[in-house]
Amino acid sequence: MFGFRDRLAWIDLTRGSIEVREIGSRDLGDFIGGSNLGAAILARLVDGDTDPLSPENPLIMVTGHVMVETIQKRRSGCKRCPVMCARVVEIEEPSKYATDGVVEAPEYESFAAFGGLQLVDDLHAVVKANELCNRWGLDVLSVGGTIAMANECFEKGLLTLTDTDGLELGMNRPDSNIELLRRIAYREGALGELLGKGSRGAAREIGHGAEEYAIEVKGMELPMHDPRFSWGQALSYATGNRGACHLTAQAHSFEQTLNFPELGYDTPQPIRSADGKSQFVVHLQNYMSLRDSLIFCSFSQFNNATKATHVRNCYNPITGAGLDFDAFMQLGERGYQLKRMINNRCGITRKDDTLPPRLRTLRKVRENLDFDVPPLNPMLSESYDLRGWTDEGRPSAETIARLGLKEFISA
Ligand code: SF4
Repeated sequence: MFGFRDRLAWIDLTRGSIEVREIGSRDLGDFIGGSNLGAAILARLVDGDTDPLSPENPLIMVTGHVMVETIQKRRSGCKRCPVMCARVVEIEEPSKYATDGVVEAPEYESFAAFGGLQLVDDLHAVVKANELCNRWGLDVLSVGGTIAMANECFEKGLLTLTDTDGLELGMNRPDSNIELLRRIAYREGALGELLGKGSRGAAREIGHGAEEYAIEVKGMELPMHDPRFSWGQALSYATGNRGACHLTAQAHSFEQTLNFPELGYDTPQPIRSADGKSQFVVHLQNYMSLRDSLIFCSFSQFNNATKATHVRNCYNPITGAGLDFDAFMQLGERGYQLKRMINNRCGITRKDDTLPPRLRTLRKVRENLDFDVPPLNPMLSESYDLRGWTDEGRPSAETIARLGLKEFISA
């Protein structure tokens, strides 16, 4: 969207009327981005008893605007891509979060990692944190999750001012987040050294139950897609070769909006259902492993702009391999299973295919709201059977032979 008019078209389909309403400067300033603004409007209009299919439940379409209208310079992206999904921004002095010229804007995960996760609502502070992560080579999800853990530990008394060399941590402290980024990047002081180990390593050293606040799988901090909402994502986080990565299967996308007819999924899969979910995740993990290896942009899957058949149609002429669809998809499986064999060598087994304690036990329950916890163990067992793994989570001898991976069996 290239502009924002500070107004909403209020469409009443029952009465057939369209009315233009002002949004109000307070809301525009207080709720950054289309989805946050939409949430504010929705929260005022409905309560927990509103029937989702009734006329009282509105359909709200709003666009992000504050960043566009205040600091965004232009859209950006990869050469010749028609989507141009990136944005570049600049914050000028006297803001204390002034950027070093024009920099990449935060995207969804960065906004969540340095915004919502830390209860920070300052756009400039989030942009600065994102800029520093890019400059220092820090993954926003991992470092954001680690800082959030440290903030929670401080609020719970597990870290003290002595541990932080006098730095006050806690939620909604954007300046201390930025200072923590610097200490982590430079491994400065005991705290920089501690948090540089990531949330798992740091929590184990902090002790006293700090592991509960480390939201990670296999040492990788979770992305901003709640697995209690998306059970395919839950299984994919648990079994992901690199840990809790949302791109390992992208199950959340295929559970909410995308279909995959080539694999028999004509419609998006139900989010909080375990039915057929293990097969679905195995399919997606195999395919994403292949797609990532071929360096296809994930976003081009939306609206099926590039399907598996398109990818195969690029692969075959370039390589001369002449693979049919099934043989092509098996390339993905071979890669995925090989990575699991490497993980097995490093000691990864079923004990590591899990979710953080909070996401296995803590239901989000409120009147008319119930984010149930996913039934992880049955889904795990089913996915092991489908993959041809032992109960311990190792590709069986038959699986290794079927995929031609015998040479990688460790001595
Ligand atoms: S949609 Fe993909 S290819 Fe296009 S600009 Fe974004 S990352 Fe690059």
